[in-house]
Amino acid sequence: MRKQKILTVEPKGSLFYLKTYGCQMNKRDSEVICGLMAEAGYRITDDSAKADIVIFNTCSVRQHAEDKVWSEAGRFKKGKIIGVVGCMAQNYGQDIFERSPNVSFVVGPADIEKIPGIITKLSNDKAIFERKIFEIDSLARPEKIYHTNFYEDKNHAFVVISEGCSNFCSYCVVPYVRGHLHNRNYEDILKEIQGALEKGITRFTLLGQNVNAYKYDTLDFVRLLRLVDAIEGLEEFSFVTSHPRDTSVDLFKAMNDAGKLKKYLHLPAQSGSDRILKLMNRGYSRKFYLDLADNYRKIVKAGALTADIIVGFPTESEKDFKGTYDLVKAVRFNAAYIFKYSPRPHTEASRMADTVPKEEKEGRHRLILEMQKEISNKVKRREYEKPE
Ligand code: SF4
Repeated sequence: MRKQKILTVEPKGSLFYLKTYGCQMNKRDSEVICGLMAEAGYRITDDSAKADIVIFNTCSVRQHAEDKVWSEAGRFKKGKIIGVVGCMAQNYGQDIFERSPNVSFVVGPADIEKIPGIITKLSNDKAIFERKIFEIDSLARPEKIYHTNFYEDKNHAFVVISEGCSNFCSYCVVPYVRGHLHNRNYEDILKEIQGALEKGITRFTLLGQNVNAYKYDTLDFVRLLRLVDAIEGLEEFSFVTSHPRDTSVDLFKAMNDAGKLKKYLHLPAQSGSDRILKLMNRGYSRKFYLDLADNYRKIVKAGALTADIIVGFPTESEKDFKGTYDLVKAVRFNAAYIFKYSPRPHTEASRMADTVPKEEKEGRHRLILEMQKEISNKVKRREYEKPE
């Protein structure tokens, strides 16, 4: 989960305000929306009070972001065109209109191309404005949306290499709101990078929910990394997020060899208990993860390693938690993002009883957080010693 962000471009037509909640995928989607809106002649402002159109590009991964959107959307007066787009739009569908009656349109992640047309319709036709517009049916995005050449940062660009996810981890809403894994053609990816290079951008992050499962025809993720590494003018790049099951020694070797690739791997562990990993449908064991971390450290010289951890998953016992605590202690991540489990709609885990009490989740969260803080500080102070 990342901080909310407001994007701005030079004013030109009707004023448009866009607020982003969630991960880098959402941030990139907001750039895509800005590019499409700018192409359609709309101007973007960072002052919501002055805007004719207010759009929330939303996240459904955690309850907290959704709560913010409900309260923000409700505070605007009638008369503005208000849209909820992205994962939360897909997740709640038409219910958003009932819960937040001043919302005029709801658009899912695969339909963002339609946003400028929807706004034009709503602006020009009062009858339509009162009927509200709802689009969440598309299965895939048209490739052209990635080529508007709009990037918020002058030096760095996020480049989506794959959309959606087919892993169905039992706690995760992503496959339900972003659909199955869909890999972009590598030629389109390289073309997008080339376009950004021509704008003077030299640093890139390859993005996807599960990047290392990338495959297009016979080209896999390792070969894609080599192609990107060879691009003339590109100075540095990285990728996020990886799934342990799709991570291999070959990937580590490629990481070590690719001169322009940042030596950084975000590899969510989620739990250190085999029983909980199974309930989470993660597809690997504690030992598999520990071996991966060990190989990464041996092969990728001076490579940083970070992870996500969930505490308080349904039925997580003291013993399960200790497994996670010990894993974090053994791996000594450079940083770890610790989350307290909360059920998300549609997911398998939401049908399990949320058995770990709130206070217990908080206690477990605090324990790992404090230990990780100490480890991270040691890593920063270079007092870090590799476990035997
Ligand atoms: S790999 Fe699992 S946690 Fe990650 S996006 Fe896919 S379903 Fe969600």
